[in-house]
Amino acid sequence: MRRLGIHSFVWTGGQTQEGLEMALDKSAEHGYRMIEFAYLRPELFDLDRLARKAQDLDIDIVVTMGLPADADVSSQDASVVQKGTAILADAVKVVRDIGGIRLGGIPYSMHGKYDSMPTREGWMNSAGAIAATADVAKDCGVELVLEVVNRFESNLLNTTAQGLKFIEDTGRDDVYLHLDTFHMNIEEASPADAIRLAGDKCRYFHFNENYRGFLGTGTIDFPSIFAALVDIGYDDRDIVFESFSSAIVDEALSRVCGIWRDTWDDNNPLAAHAHQFITQRWAEAVMRRDVNETA
Ligand code: MN
Repeated sequence: MRRLGIHSFVWTGGQTQEGLEMALDKSAEHGYRMIEFAYLRPELFDLDRLARKAQDLDIDIVVTMGLPADADVSSQDASVVQKGTAILADAVKVVRDIGGIRLGGIPYSMHGKYDSMPTREGWMNSAGAIAATADVAKDCGVELVLEVVNRFESNLLNTTAQGLKFIEDTGRDDVYLHLDTFHMNIEEASPADAIRLAGDKCRYFHFNENYRGFLGTGTIDFPSIFAALVDIGYDDRDIVFESFSSAIVDEALSRVCGIWRDTWDDNNPLAAHAHQFITQRWAEAVMRRDVNETA
């Protein structure tokens, strides 16, 4: 892997400048070289100051987001799609202004439980909006990745196969997939096969336990995940640890992700453990691959 990162919600709900700065410090203290922020409203934060602080700490910034229902680019209503497309362009510019490298998450859809089937027209509207966003991202030097999520958080891209088809329909070769063990565990017959299918198109990866708590204490089959990642040559790409607990609350994200209880109450051992878990197992998987290749 290139860099190992951590989601800022391990440290803070992200409502204040002080909270985000503390999250940067805590991430660095635990040896992480990347942090993920949820979408930041630029009027509430000093983006320059955050950019400088991240640079001083040698931490890369990634931002992830989803769209609200009234700006869902997979809608069949042109005005709703237009509103979403404008939000995405602004989001890309915020990533640029905070010195970030990547925008991910669910820019292609509302983030939440749909009560309707996806439509062909909505799919193509979304593909068009993502193509337009990719243009802005290219100008801003920001990489655009689409997180494939479970059925309760979007009705559009629930599997790697769908994600690859969608990227094809954007007509872009600079839009990539963002995979997540938590979501794949719900949707994919084989998460490891899904990683291999994504191959070079997977440019960002979330490590999550099946219940979003301590890695290795749940049902995710991590050995097969590490093996698949080293198989696709993930060495030059980034991994981020994501974990949510009601100990840290962001009103909007906690509700949409269904974070109703404490999966942990102390984030320090959680972050320390995840860093060690991923670093050590990644190194072991690489060693195993190299041994097999020379055998
Ligand atoms: Mn995720």
